[in-house]
Amino acid sequence: MSDSDRTAAREASRALEVAAPLARVSKSATVAAGERAARLANRGVDVVDLGPGQPDFDTPEHIKEAAVQAIAEGHTKYTPVAGIPELRDAVARRISERDGVELTADETIVTSGGKHALYNALRALLEPGDEVVIPTPYWVTFPEQVRLTGASPVFVDSREEDDFAVRAADIEAACTDATRAIVLNTPSNPTGAVVPRTEVEAITRLAIERDLTVVFDECYADYLYDGAEHVTPFAVGKEARSHCVLCGSCSKTFAMTGWRVGYAVGPRPLVEAMSRFQSHVTSNATSVSQWAALAALQGDQEPVREMLAAFAERREIAVGRLRRMPGVTCAEPRGAFYAFPNVESMLSDEAPTSVDLAMHLLDTVHVATVPGAAFGRDGYLRLSFATSVERLEEGLNRLAEAFAVRAG
Ligand code: PLP
Repeated sequence: MSDSDRTAAREASRALEVAAPLARVSKSATVAAGERAARLANRGVDVVDLGPGQPDFDTPEHIKEAAVQAIAEGHTKYTPVAGIPELRDAVARRISERDGVELTADETIVTSGGKHALYNALRALLEPGDEVVIPTPYWVTFPEQVRLTGASPVFVDSREEDDFAVRAADIEAACTDATRAIVLNTPSNPTGAVVPRTEVEAITRLAIERDLTVVFDECYADYLYDGAEHVTPFAVGKEARSHCVLCGSCSKTFAMTGWRVGYAVGPRPLVEAMSRFQSHVTSNATSVSQWAALAALQGDQEPVREMLAAFAERREIAVGRLRRMPGVTCAEPRGAFYAFPNVESMLSDEAPTSVDLAMHLLDTVHVATVPGAAFGRDGYLRLSFATSVERLEEGLNRLAEAFAVRAG
């Protein structure tokens, strides 16, 4: 090989190296688990999929009709980067009415899903070297998005005895001089935990005192059970406004996961920075989806109530059955559509981790779950009850059978 060939080969291999921040990021475990289940199902295996992170309902008809109308009316061009004014206004109104605050459209930004809202917020807030406090179990994406900015996640355990609602005191103990933000996700994926008013308020006051930002993920805000209340940092009053950014989504509330519409609400300078960042990365969220989202926010809310009622029924079934399985405990999910049972007693030398156990359950009784390790808490599984009662019961029967064998 000549010198010039060698130089060319060296340069080619360097070109294939992935940049360090991305090399540290792993593929979403929930996506990976879903892919494995899909491969089995494609081979004709009757897999009960308790993995999905999305409602099993179709997008309500009036929302689809609004999208069709938007296409017919030619709303198919770029929109303002931060979203059509009508939708920004509708987001501001909905949250103002819900939380008793007076928000205006320029304190909102429309994004391509809730995930995108969170990433924009973290990009606008963080610098390399910053720390972000994240309660565990966490939604898989939080630590990875923080790492993508060059900042570092600092984990704080929530407790099963508190139904996984994080304590403000534990968050405070994890704060250092490098802390810049606290991620709070309520209702939580994967546990369904709803952080109570006392703790949301204490965490917000902590953020005000230490000049931090609460990055508040409320994607499941409309799925609450047994009178659980959704409390946001705004509950603390005016001072909270400059110390929090609310990130939400149409995905779960309106069964619109594929439409990719989310939003953030925060202080104007932050929203403007997010908008500048978004202008160079994705521009506006899909124009047609934005008009559909407007119909979702302003239109009939009955489909949301119907989905909530269906999830409430399935939650009773899932939690009740899990708690009757010997060796299994299950915290109360007060929101979202997940149960997070403790299956530590089912681990063994052949299946020492929740990842092994989830694979074992998929391979033997053909039930797809997501291992707790993916959410930073081994010894647990995440089960989604966003599936029909019939399939849910079939999946729980199979799990009971598999656990009975393991418990011996
Ligand atoms: N936040 C949480 C806690 C989630 O579980 C999800 C999706 O699973 C999202 C945000 C993002 O949702 P989307 O980007 O579909 O709006």
